[in-house]
Amino acid sequence: MPYSIMLDAGHGGSDPGATYQGRKEADDALRLTLAVGEILQNHGFDVEYTRTTDVYESPFQKAMEANEAGVDFFVSIHRNSYPVDNEVSGVESLVYDLSGIKYEMAQNINEQLENVGFVNLGVKARPNLIVLKRTKMPAVLVEVGFINSDIDNQLFDDNFYDIAGAIADGIMDTLKKPGMSTDMQYRVQVGAYRNRRYAEQLLNELIAQDYPAFLEEGNGFFRVQVGEYPILQEAVDMERRLKMAGYPTIIVS
Ligand SMILES: [Zn+2]
Repeated sequence: MPYSIMLDAGHGGSDPGATYQGRKEADDALRLTLAVGEILQNHGFDVEYTRTTDVYESPFQKAMEANEAGVDFFVSIHRNSYPVDNEVSGVESLVYDLSGIKYEMAQNINEQLENVGFVNLGVKARPNLIVLKRTKMPAVLVEVGFINSDIDNQLFDDNFYDIAGAIADGIMDTLKKPGMSTDMQYRVQVGAYRNRRYAEQLLNELIAQDYPAFLEEGNGFFRVQVGEYPILQEAVDMERRLKMAGYPTIIVS
């Protein structure tokens, strides 16, 4: 089965993102996102987009779209901005927390972009960003240089296709690792009940705490499960979080 990925060009429509001397983040993000998608498609990926034109959609809508599509990965492409023009340059990637395959993917993308000539500003945890927090699958947001850095803009324009290739390579590098398989999906099970009401109570409690929880019905049981992870380590990380919050858990596949 091919990997599926949803690519998200940041901002769009009524939201231009950061701007600098008439240049709009939303435009750079869209052009680059489509180029990355074309490369991934040529490598057998099942590629979907949150937008392919200059339209606005809220980050929450984007996250829900990815969840509904049930893609394996979510990568959002942006350009960065700093309060003072030409003060900072480089690439930076953001993830929900510094663990699992999303963290590896973010590091690989940064390294590939560093090879093209960007300064590597590293990977940062941003647990409050909606597209990272509300997506059920591993998600990375890449800030491809600062839009108010002339150095970064020149790099962006002169090496556009290398940059698109670097992001695609960063994504693919991550998936070449042994033990990676999409045939298997791991979930963390927090409870199994005969009584639907008990299951729904636990489900609502987990959702209220922003866990990507859902109800699975079968063989007379209502199972409350969290996440859907292509590699075991992701499920192990989530299990640790749930255990620390006091929930009894098992990993199921
Ligand atoms: Zn942005």
